[in-house]
Amino acid sequence: MLPHCVYCGCVSLFSSIPVWALITAAVIAGLTFGSFLNVCIVRLPAHQSIVTPASHCLHCGTPIRARDNVPVISWVWLRGRCRACTVGISIQYPLVELSTVALFVACVVHTGATWQTLVDAVACFLLLGLAVMDWQTMLLPDAFTLTGIGAAFLLKVFAPGNRFRLRVAIQTLEAAAIAAALLLLVWVLYRVVRRRQGMGLGDVKLLAMVAAFMGLPVALFAYFVGVLAAALFAIVLLAQRKVRGSDRIPFGSFLAAAGILAIFLGKSAIAWYLSMFH
Ligand SMILES: [Zn+2]
Repeated sequence: MLPHCVYCGCVSLFSSIPVWALITAAVIAGLTFGSFLNVCIVRLPAHQSIVTPASHCLHCGTPIRARDNVPVISWVWLRGRCRACTVGISIQYPLVELSTVALFVACVVHTGATWQTLVDAVACFLLLGLAVMDWQTMLLPDAFTLTGIGAAFLLKVFAPGNRFRLRVAIQTLEAAAIAAALLLLVWVLYRVVRRRQGMGLGDVKLLAMVAAFMGLPVALFAYFVGVLAAALFAIVLLAQRKVRGSDRIPFGSFLAAAGILAIFLGKSAIAWYLSMFH
């Protein structure tokens, strides 16, 4: 019999691998996928292809050579400037890459060498990208939210050792559908009461994705934390008179960040909350 994960009982795939090797793999994967995530963040909200053209300077259009395209290192080496035109390259690129590394390492530390670690890492990748994209453009592309729901479904249903594929398939879809329905209700109520749109439908798909990955209770925890954080942010901005009551704030960023928090703390937070009633 294959060894099982201590957290969720899922099958541990690489349990014979030492910790240092796992963390090294997480760092390399984090740098690689973080670099790809930068491309997605810049191009998806602008409806551009994430495959072509190859990486190029956004200012002068010069293609970036392979040696100038090494995650984090090239940015530091070139002191954050394009080699051709010397116009500054945003610090967002190395920051997204380092954040992806940090999250992937956290996933490995959290659940070790298990299938769950892969599921969590995929969720982290998507949520980090969505948080940045919504913050910058107020957009949550379907290429991340809907694809994320599909990815969660496949990763859970076809998890190695899963003997209840149909049950898991129904549970995953059910969680996503209920989460979407709840947020859709909030969306409709807000429109009726305030006569304007309070949030985008992207937020509905985002919460459905969180529920598909983590289940409904953890998704509701993420929603609660996201609403709280967004409300605090709005209160601070209103107090500083930086925004007016009618301005929109990127709720999806708060929801996505809360989703990342929920991956690591969701289950223990819910257990703590329920323990207060016993
Ligand atoms: Zn340039």
